[in-house]
Formats: sequence, C-alpha cells, structure tokens
Amino acid sequence: MESPYFYIIFSMMISSAALSVVFYMAWLNFGRKQHTLTWSLAFLAGALQWLCVLNQNLFATREAYLLLESALAVALVTLGLRGHCQRTQCKHLPKNLWPLAMSVYAMIAWHIVVIPNVGIKMSIVPAYAAVTLFMSAWMILNYRKKTRPAEWAAVIFIIIFALTQAVSAGLAYMQGPTGDTVFADIFSHFEFLTLPAGYMTMSMFIILMMASDISAQMKKLATRDQLTGLLNRRGFTEFGERAFSAAKRAASPLSVIMTDIDRFKNINDKFGHAAGDAALVHFARMVSEYRRSEDVVARVGGEEFALLLPGTELRDAMALADQLCAKVGSTPMDVTGIGMPMTSSFGVSAVSEKDASLADLVLRADRALYRSKRAGRNQVDLESSQLMLASDGKLKPVSSA
Ligand code: GH3
Ligand code: MG
Ligand code: MG
Repeated sequence: MESPYFYIIFSMMISSAALSVVFYMAWLNFGRKQHTLTWSLAFLAGALQWLCVLNQNLFATREAYLLLESALAVALVTLGLRGHCQRTQCKHLPKNLWPLAMSVYAMIAWHIVVIPNVGIKMSIVPAYAAVTLFMSAWMILNYRKKTRPAEWAAVIFIIIFALTQAVSAGLAYMQGPTGDTVFADIFSHFEFLTLPAGYMTMSMFIILMMASDISAQMKKLATRDQLTGLLNRRGFTEFGERAFSAAKRAASPLSVIMTDIDRFKNINDKFGHAAGDAALVHFARMVSEYRRSEDVVARVGGEEFALLLPGTELRDAMALADQLCAKVGSTPMDVTGIGMPMTSSFGVSAVSEKDASLADLVLRADRALYRSKRAGRNQVDLESSQLMLASDGKLKPVSSA
C-alpha cells in the first residue's frame, strides 16, 4: 500500500495530462489561439512535474531530482502567466517572461546546490505562483470594460488559489533552513489539502472562461457585418429590441434613421464591385463618425444602413439625418484619383405609445425612406408626412404649423 500522498500526486499527474490534452484540442479546433497552446504546455509541464515527484527514487541524487522538479514547476507557473498575458494582450508585462523565470529558478537552484535551505527553496514556487496568479486575475479584470460572468468566476477561483499558495509559501518558509519536522508536516498537510482542489477548480473555471470567449466570438460573427465591421440586421434587431424595451419602460425617446445609398447599382456598374465594396466601407465610416457612444449603426442590407438613437427625439434625429445627407453628398470617395460622387436617401421615425415592437418603428422609417427615394433621392423624410418643422424649430402637425 502506497502512502496517501502517492494517490493524490498520481491523480494530479493524470488530471494535468488530461488538461494538457483538453487545451491542445481547444487550440487545434477553436481558432488556434496562442494562449490555449501555451496553457496546454503549462499543464504538460505540470504532468511531468508530478511524474517526477512519483519517480524521485530513480534519480541518482536528491539535488538532481529537486533541480528538475523545480524547473518543471517554474515552467508551469510561467506558462500559466504567459497564457493570461496572451489572452488579455497585456502591455504591462514583457513578452518574454523567461528572464523572470530564469531568475526565480536561479534562486531555487542556489538554495538547493550552493547554500542548501529547505525553507527558502520550498517557499519560492508557491510564492511565485501566488504573485503570478494575482497578476493574472488583475489582467482578466482589466481586459475589457465589462468583465463577463465566466471571467469573474475564473478571477474568484484564481484569487482563492493564489491566497492558498501564499499561505503555503509562508508555511514552507517556516520550516527553516534544515526543515523543522513540525512545520514540514503542517506544510505538507496544508499543501495536499489545498493544492489539488485549488488547481482543479481554477482550471475548470479557466476552461469555462475559454468557452465564454468562443461563444462571444461566435456571437460576434453572427451579429457583425464582415465588410464594414458594423452590426448586421440580426445584431441591430437584437440590440434594438433591448433599446426599445428600455425606452418604453422609462418613457424616454428613441429614434431610428434608415438610409439607402442612391443608385448604388450604377457605382458597381461604372467602377466595379471592388469599388462598390470600398464605397460601402467609406459610407459606413462617414455614418459612424456621427455616432454617440449610446447609438447603434448597422448595415441592415446590401447598401442599406440603420441608426438607432436612444434618448433622441424625432426632431433631433431629423437634424442628424440632414447633416448626414449633406455630409455624404459633399464627400466623394477617392477611386484611384477620381472623385466618385455619392448620395443617400433617409427616412426617420421615433417611438410612439402605440408601438408594440422595434419592427413598427423600423417600418415607419422604411416608409419614410421610400418616400425620399420617390421624391428624387438625396433627401430626408419623416415617418409621417403629417408632421413638419415649424418656424420655431418644433415639429408640429401640418394643420397647426
Ligand atoms: P436606389 O437609389 O433606388 O436605392 O437604387 P440602387 O441602385 O441603390 O438600388 P438597387 O436595389 O437597384 O441596387 C442595389 C445594389 O447594391 C445591387 C447590388 O448588386 C449591390 N450590392 C448589394 N450588396 C453589395 C455588396 O456587398 N457589395 C457591392 N459592391 N455591391 C452590393
Ligand atoms: Mg440604393
Ligand atoms: Mg437598397
């Protein structure tokens, strides 16, 4: 019968190897993201480290075993940190972390070979792990404006694991240079109690975080237009429905501008499809320049775009559409030195009490756009021809204006 530690270390080795395969397969199948391969290597180093621990009797000297086991532990921790740097595109840490890893390893080697000190030697890896785990949690929290739930979960478990590693480091240090047996015992108990659980739960939440990255990427692909980078019709509807419900709840204004480039077919026919594509990008950029942070700009059809303006009254939306119409008409696109003129027609609508969904609002803006087209293009029309702009700048029904 082996000691209980044997079974724990054996499980750690198998779990690490399995995690290495999971991350390798994730790298292979989910877009070859650098950090997934780095983490696969980290867990491989972990598996080898436990293999080393299980077979320490095979080493010629105790020093040789300690040097290899520590090297693998330092590699595991460094690769873990490197993976977080890659995933979060962290600019605060250098790309090359090996000088850091080498310095940490040099300290360990010094206390194994030159001035043997059990306490210091054994406390360096958990202390290094604690520091790098805190740094990783910080990187995840600073990665995006709104941290996702899966990232929060990963951060919580990373911090818990970091705290246990910090305590491990303290207990290891208390063993002193020659390894006080009482503290060595406390250290082993604490380490074996917290390491497998901490290591495994943290890894599971990192996998969950990776799954949330993939899901967000899929969602982005499904809701974004490849050519212009704007939301597509699906993204517009998804965002718009939410903005519509919020506007209804708060009884706040919400406007929609629909716009369609005039005679776009002629641009394609005259300058070619590639120039047509460039014109769409040029147009998308112009429209986006007028976007406030709360607005949404989307390409909802071939050469048809929509703007959703939360908190904006019909009158202000119309003023914006007028500005845009003038801007498009006066900004020809450069096609290899030739100025390609472009105009667009606009339709504007605003939410009313009767509206049941975003579709009602969009339909009225579409009708207004259609009227702009019929009236000669390169102009703005409102959702209802019953409204007009009075001399005081307010929108009023035609009869009272
Ligand atoms: P109107 O003023 O009435 O809107 O006329 P139009 O020519 O703009 O409208 P029509 O619907 O007849 O033509 C739209 C054209 O847009 C036809 C289609 O080939 C082109 N188109 C749609 N999507 C793309 C695209 O992604 N790239 C390019 N280059 N052309 C596109
Ligand atoms: Mg058109
Ligand atoms: Mg069209």
